[in-house]
Amino acid sequence: MNIPMVDLRGQYQSLKEEIRRQLDSVLEGSQFVLGPQGEALEQEIAAYCGVRHAIGVASGTDALHLALRAAGIGPGDEVITTPFTFIATAEAIAYVGAKAVFVDIDPQTFNICVDAVASAVGPRTRAVLPVHLFGQPADLAPLKQICDRHGLRLIEDCAQSFGAVYQGRMTGAWGDAGCFSFFPSKNLGCYGDGGMIVTNDDHLAAEIRMLRNHGSRERYYHAAIGYNSRLDDMQAAILRVKLKHIDDYNRARRRNAALYSELLQDAPVLTPVEDGKGCHVFHQYTLRAPRRADLQKTLSAAGIASAIYYPVPLHRQEVFAADCAGLSLPVAEQAAAEVLSLPMYPELTAEQIRLVCRTIADAAAR
Ligand SMILES: *Cc1c(COP(=O)(O)O)cnc(C)c1O
Repeated sequence: MNIPMVDLRGQYQSLKEEIRRQLDSVLEGSQFVLGPQGEALEQEIAAYCGVRHAIGVASGTDALHLALRAAGIGPGDEVITTPFTFIATAEAIAYVGAKAVFVDIDPQTFNICVDAVASAVGPRTRAVLPVHLFGQPADLAPLKQICDRHGLRLIEDCAQSFGAVYQGRMTGAWGDAGCFSFFPSKNLGCYGDGGMIVTNDDHLAAEIRMLRNHGSRERYYHAAIGYNSRLDDMQAAILRVKLKHIDDYNRARRRNAALYSELLQDAPVLTPVEDGKGCHVFHQYTLRAPRRADLQKTLSAAGIASAIYYPVPLHRQEVFAADCAGLSLPVAEQAAAEVLSLPMYPELTAEQIRLVCRTIADAAAR
């Protein structure tokens, strides 16, 4: 039995009829960009997240970029963020000409450390950009307090947390803006690239709508140099079908995670810690494995995929070497050396999970 990290085919098979019907109707209507499907999806996601506005864009990376730019963050500004994330988080900060200030993470949740954020606020700080890593909400309440106290923007990277709730409110709805990715492997994924920004700020929403469409509020009148960054109607139609099932999918991920953690109790690995402040939607199921290389080899020999998210924290990446010379963030560095993510998707079966856990136990016994 081969077990991949993600398998998108099962979900497609179960939704095939409806997805094909919806795609057909987009093809028949032939309004492919900024059409009715995109608009309907925006309304549905705004309602789902409990916010006033949702704006579709071309990717999660663009969602972060446009949110930062619409918030007026630019050259000379600093944005405090986590080094333990995908590069896109920091790329977006660089795109607007601002500087990413990396601070260390919490060893239990891998999310940005609130005390480290508080200590890093300085005269140039304009925003805090937490990531809800692996689907677990960052500690938003104290982060929001810090932002309110210092007049900073809170921009959430929700690429891995669609449907994750923190203290009764959706991730994405806490900050000035929440930025989602619909990359195929995310919890809510389309069949290409896509993204969305949610916000309660009317001004920010209008700016983002203008920026995503060539800086235009009215056709052929351009107020700013903008971008071509729309979510197309084919992708929106697919996402509308999947959105109806997202809570079931996230429940299935949680159920799979619970079974993994139960079966790995006695294995020489540390299973993910839920901090109890929010609902973890397990975009990834990520262990700490002190003997990671051996474990990965054993899994691979048994046909079981595993992956390291992320092997190099951003402050140690070549691209940030000059900015981060001498910066030491030991918790993030140790996490990068120890983490190992196991296969995770809603359709993963109990039998598959048992096999993965048995293989890990066998590896330890040897
Ligand atoms: C996937 C991801 C992004 C980027 O999303 P794209 O849609 O691929 O551009 C940004 N941040 C994090 C944490 C991600 O996991």
